[in-house]
Amino acid sequence: MFIDYISFDHTRPCIAEPGKIVVAGKPSGAIDAVFPLLNAILPNVISYNPRAGVLVLRRKPGFITLQANEIFITQVQDADAGIELLNAVRDLLNQTWEQRETIQPRRDARRTPRPLDVYALLPQTNCRACGEATCMAFAFALLEARRKIDECGALAHTEVAAQRATLVEMVGQYDAPSSFWRE
Ligand code: SF4
Repeated sequence: MFIDYISFDHTRPCIAEPGKIVVAGKPSGAIDAVFPLLNAILPNVISYNPRAGVLVLRRKPGFITLQANEIFITQVQDADAGIELLNAVRDLLNQTWEQRETIQPRRDARRTPRPLDVYALLPQTNCRACGEATCMAFAFALLEARRKIDECGALAHTEVAAQRATLVEMVGQYDAPSSFWRE
């Protein structure tokens, strides 16, 4: 078995969909060795960053962000649904690892986000503080590298760290230093 469990660690409010939550889980061991296998076989990979060891998967709705020692799932209904999802991810990792002899790993970086993927991680309040008329316009601007994530102040709160980390991977920008964060 690749990992024994993914424990339910904490939740945060989901800025993209009020009422839903972001669920964070901790795997029983480092999981990044399986990422090149997942990158090779899954159709819903949005980005893979082998240097940072981060794989982002699209789900409907939301995203699953896999890091070596942490997993985030956005737009989750409630804690029970989050536990079910974490268990499903554990099973996916274990089944993929069992089949590793038959999979050609894909170790190259990949980044194929759609504008709606980026939009789904933004606050969606259209407050215009970033200088764009809408959050969707900001999403396009991020993908075209005309804007930086830091220009949306709502993403500077520690509460939305998971969404921000996923955005960083999707649009390929470096993350801000710790002094940037607001409680
Ligand atoms: S700053 Fe821009 S991206 Fe952020 S919530 Fe306001 S309009 Fe949306």
